[in-house]
Amino acid sequence: MQPLIILGRDGVLLEPVAGGLLSVSGLCIIPGSLEAVSRLNHAGYRVALTTNQPALGEGRLNIETLNAIHARLAEGLARVGGHLDALLTCPHTEASNCDCRKPGTGMLREIADRLDTPLETVTVIGDDTADIEAARAANAMPLLVLTGHGIATRADYPEVPAFDDLDHAVSWILTQR
Ligand SMILES: [Zn+2]
Repeated sequence: MQPLIILGRDGVLLEPVAGGLLSVSGLCIIPGSLEAVSRLNHAGYRVALTTNQPALGEGRLNIETLNAIHARLAEGLARVGGHLDALLTCPHTEASNCDCRKPGTGMLREIADRLDTPLETVTVIGDDTADIEAARAANAMPLLVLTGHGIATRADYPEVPAFDDLDHAVSWILTQR
């Protein structure tokens, strides 16, 4: 079975934007992150992405713009030989109490179902509390990156392995095989 890594989007691949990324022009890739996905792909890993986008539910972001942002991300990945096996978005606001919004486990379970992979074997890489809590609640293994909100998050999770960025986390994963 091909191993599966599930990444957060903002703070892991993309620089977080206060209030959410609302335009293609605001997209800013964290250096080395797309190449890191490609290295995982070429080492035989499947890579999926989850993202909370409450701006959709609030009406500040429409689905066409979100799709354009994700198309641009996919183009950037393709240029370095990478791809995503799944990309799930929670469009709900916190008040909706859905189970897909991280730290809910809905998106992790959906990806694991689709890709027929037990969550106990999955590594989740994120920069914030929601990613780590979702991983734990789903019995996956969390890793923290110190990009995005990672430095602030680290103090609350000293026991979670932490890496400067996705590039460093991937290098560690590939040495663990
Ligand atoms: Zn949701």
